[in-house]
Amino acid sequence: MNCPLNKEEYERFWSALVGAERFQRHPFEEGASFFESCLPVEELARRGPDTLRFGPLRPVGLYDPCSRGRPYAVVQLRPKDRAGHLYNMVGFQTGLRQAEQRRVFRLIPGLAAAHFVRYGAMHRNTFLNAPRTIFATLQARVRADLFFAGQITGVEGYVESAAAGLVAGLNAARLIQRRELVRFPKTIAIGALLAHLEGADPDCFQPMNVNFGLLESMPDAPRRRRDRNRALAERALGELQRFANIANLSLASTGRVW
Ligand SMILES: Cc1cc2nc3c(=O)[nH]c(=O)nc-3n(C[C@H](O)[C@H](O)[C@H](O)COP(=O)(O)OP(=O)(O)OC[C@H]3O[C@@H](n4cnc5c(N)ncnc54)[C@H](O)[C@@H]3O)c2cc1C
Repeated sequence: MNCPLNKEEYERFWSALVGAERFQRHPFEEGASFFESCLPVEELARRGPDTLRFGPLRPVGLYDPCSRGRPYAVVQLRPKDRAGHLYNMVGFQTGLRQAEQRRVFRLIPGLAAAHFVRYGAMHRNTFLNAPRTIFATLQARVRADLFFAGQITGVEGYVESAAAGLVAGLNAARLIQRRELVRFPKTIAIGALLAHLEGADPDCFQPMNVNFGLLESMPDAPRRRRDRNRALAERALGELQRFANIANLSLASTGRVW
């Protein structure tokens, strides 16, 4: 379900959002920074009048039957129950006070009479300073039989956390079997991400999602981004197969690139 906004509605909403009152931070939260991939909606708005409509409110691919064209911006609602009574506002992590959420979010067309069942809230991640504390094998630097898995290692995201769990489990088992620990190559997403944890600057370490920029560069890669990413993904699948044979890992499937 989408709530389309025209230019005037968007500008009114944006002005209210940047001027709205936020929750006060606790003293222990002072100095904490936001995770760039999951910014509060008012923080995005503060970065400029167009940031939201090129971000979570991007109207690309959507058609507004009333204005018979592409809306200026759009708020997407995701259903949360079978009856279609509850909706989540996509991309609306927020640290606004609850009264401000009611006031500002009701400016969105279609939500003037919305009932707020649960308010937006900020969450805090706890994570290790990975470059100081763990290796790319996810083994603790100071204790060989201690491994870390999931988001606490400094990776971020569902797949990344599961991948870190896989590596930690694999290496814990190999340690018990007195086998060499596995370090995935930096040409593979999982290896590039874990190498980043080990090698990042510890003075400004922040959680990291997997992304093509982490992969070891490819000197003869195509210039077009789409082609380059495909080449990197194909290289990764080949390298994974090769690495699995060397490290004696069994792969259920190497899958397709896309
Ligand atoms: C609101 C929100 C939206 C998100 N959206 C996305 C998304 O769209 N895509 C995406 O890829 N990622 C998303 N993430 C991030 C993603 O959820 C996490 O990166 C991932 O779930 C982390 O997995 P994990 O298994 O490492 O940790 P968790 O899923 O946090 O699991 C840790 C578990 O340990 C339990 N636990 C904690 N302390 C103890 C203890 N002392 N004893 C026993 N158990 C304990 C907790 O209860 C929890 O069940 C989102 C996160 C949030 C908060």
